[in-house]
Amino acid sequence: MENGLDSQSTAHPEGAARQVAQLERMVQISRLLSSTLDLDQLLQLIIHTAADMVGSEAASILLEDRRTGGLSFVAATNCSAEDLRCIEVPVDYSIAGTVYKTGEPVIVDNASVDPRHYGEVDSHIKFQTHSVLGVPLQVRSRNIGVLEAVNKCEGACFSPDDVEILLTLASQAAVAIQNAKLVSELREANARLAQVDKIKSDFLSIASHELRTPLNIVMGYAAMLREDAAGSLSEEVEGVLRGATRLQGIIKSMTNLTYLESGVPQLRLERYLLQALVEEACKEWRPLAAGKHLTLRESLPEMPIYVNVDVAKVNTVLNNVLDNAVAFTPPDGCIEVAIRPHTGMVAVSVADTGIGIPEVELERIFEPFYQVEDHLTRQHEGIGLGLSVAKSIVELHGGRIWAESVEGHGSRFSFLLPVRWGDHADG
Ligand code: ADP
Repeated sequence: MENGLDSQSTAHPEGAARQVAQLERMVQISRLLSSTLDLDQLLQLIIHTAADMVGSEAASILLEDRRTGGLSFVAATNCSAEDLRCIEVPVDYSIAGTVYKTGEPVIVDNASVDPRHYGEVDSHIKFQTHSVLGVPLQVRSRNIGVLEAVNKCEGACFSPDDVEILLTLASQAAVAIQNAKLVSELREANARLAQVDKIKSDFLSIASHELRTPLNIVMGYAAMLREDAAGSLSEEVEGVLRGATRLQGIIKSMTNLTYLESGVPQLRLERYLLQALVEEACKEWRPLAAGKHLTLRESLPEMPIYVNVDVAKVNTVLNNVLDNAVAFTPPDGCIEVAIRPHTGMVAVSVADTGIGIPEVELERIFEPFYQVEDHLTRQHEGIGLGLSVAKSIVELHGGRIWAESVEGHGSRFSFLLPVRWGDHADG
């Protein structure tokens, strides 16, 4: 097809000036199209530009509907998108459908006598279509819809120049529409993913929290039963305790994963009696320690020590360290939890008489997912997150955590917390 923007330019200086103005306009529109990612805004910009540039009463955009195989109106200058949305245009019996199927522009000078004209739209929006110019919206040679200009002003017919203008606009509009659709699909997919992710995190957090109390009850009773049980029954009670211990390990991993998932953690600080915090944690672990014939002792100062901490998070630190002490200490060993002042802060330590940790590993065990034993041969449940989570929580409180150990003899984990010194004597 002859390039309408070039024809006549040399013969008629006025025509040339008009075409230069049109080209400038097209460059401006092109910039706008490529910088607009909001689909509705973009569609409005395209139809108003189309009507304006070819001098038509109205303009509209129809896009393919992949579910039905038809064409649906997504924007029109002469009525709201809501009004048009319910009308589907059949591809086989419409002017737009002809453009969409053939990928070629179509000019209709008198729609009322054209058998392809789909009159339903006119009667629905109370409009009279006389002339139509439809061009395909193509992305990488694939038709995704149709851009139509309707009723050339003053009863005139659409010209080859109009075809060229609308084709140029449509080629840029199609890419912009496709990009905006992709961005909006991506946003929707992201929002759905975030929703699913939140449900998963909430579930992990609630499940790990809610499972702990009943599990402690099971462990407490199983430990008591074991004292009284004799013969074959004691084996079964041991089985219950072993199962409960595994479950405890899984819950610990869930709690630690929840902590990692929650992003930048917020501390909910409150004034709390440190002795009470330690006693509550030890109470939870006593049945399990007893199940392994371990003595769990507390060495707490008499003077009340108040700390300003996020109680649930410090509880996670104690749980993680106590879990390791119980897991890595062979039967008949001893675990001692102590509180002592430490250069302007307070130190909580958990010492065990367990297998110990090689000196070269003492720093690395605080790295995420680091485990001293090979995870294929290890017997202890866990995914290597406990100490890294403990370190992060302690450091958030402005404290520090470290380990000392003699291989084969035991380990001591200590962490520092800020004290509310003025509060010593009260409570
Ligand atoms: P896990 O979930 O595997 O216990 P942690 O981060 O809590 O992960 O611990 C990392 C590793 O440090 C453990 O796998 C173990 O090898 C070692 N470790 C931690 N505490 C002790 C301890 N009290 N005695 C011996 N080894 C320990």
